[in-house]
Amino acid sequence: MIIIMRPDSTDSDIEGVLERLDDRGYGHHISRGEQRTIIGAIGAPDGEKDLIAGQFSVLPGVERVVPILKSYKLISREHHPRPTPVMIGGAKVGGGHLAVVAGPCSVESRQQMVQTARAVKEAGACALRGGAFKPRTSPYSFQGLGEEGLEYLIAAREATGLPVVTEIMDVRHAEKVAQVADCIQIGARNMQNYDLLKECGRLGKPVMLKRGFASTIEEWLKAAEYIASAGMLDIILCERGIRTFETGTRFTMDLGAIALARRETFLPLVADPSHATGVASLVPPLALAAVAAGVDGLLIEVPPRPDEALSDGPQSLTPAAFSELMKTIRRVAEAVGSEV
Ligand code: PEP
Ligand code: MN
Repeated sequence: MIIIMRPDSTDSDIEGVLERLDDRGYGHHISRGEQRTIIGAIGAPDGEKDLIAGQFSVLPGVERVVPILKSYKLISREHHPRPTPVMIGGAKVGGGHLAVVAGPCSVESRQQMVQTARAVKEAGACALRGGAFKPRTSPYSFQGLGEEGLEYLIAAREATGLPVVTEIMDVRHAEKVAQVADCIQIGARNMQNYDLLKECGRLGKPVMLKRGFASTIEEWLKAAEYIASAGMLDIILCERGIRTFETGTRFTMDLGAIALARRETFLPLVADPSHATGVASLVPPLALAAVAAGVDGLLIEVPPRPDEALSDGPQSLTPAAFSELMKTIRRVAEAVGSEV
């Protein structure tokens, strides 16, 4: 880590930092510039880097501490240089294959799921989405069908052969969700639920990790590292929009995050233009922008009838609109060298 001293720090502040480094058994190199002194600490154990950086950042005269070694390793390109696809059942995400995962926000009935699965498959989706356990902002909103919803996901998969992606909300449901899901989704609100991340890493199923809407890219990657360090490297990262000052859209799709995460990790990256925009008419342009930015897949909300959906109807595409969008997605994908 690098310890940057304040311009007004005194010699005794610097001595204090050096002594503290010495006490801990770390080496140091010191560079005294005209404006400020910078101290490089050598030998801090990786696992404790954040803790130590926090402790040193409050010492007298310290402006800030910058950890140098990345704290995500297993998912980094340093560990594994080339982007690597992940399979959701038989559907490939990445490796030149653009995977479109579509379906309703919430699982509502057997008929709804089977009907949607047929429609999105026909349009070219390779996997079905649908939440049985739902994270709702209000406790009075529809909370999802829970275990009953998992049954309807199975029914839709049996009817169409589409693999299913569904969200886990609670470690207590881990086994049940893992038995059904071909890919377990961790939602934005749970991105930093570390016990849930660790549990998901042990379940033996691929995980789709959505970015928390107030999380930095680094926090997102560290969250993925939790899953990887618990044993699961088949992780798909999903950019689903972050909260900004803008209120015209529900969130703000961070396309830069896709480009940056691509540079940092070999994990496949997908985008969710439905939650990012919150407005059905804005989903197609953002979906296409994400494809142009090089995503490996898209997550798109498509219920049989948005006007009757129990959650997220305003941001959902009708099956007909989804089918139209798929045609353009194919063209843009082809232009950037991937295939739907
Ligand atoms: C969802 O995909 O249904 C969902 C709740 O998404 P997010 O966690 O991104 O809000
Ligand atoms: Mn939703």
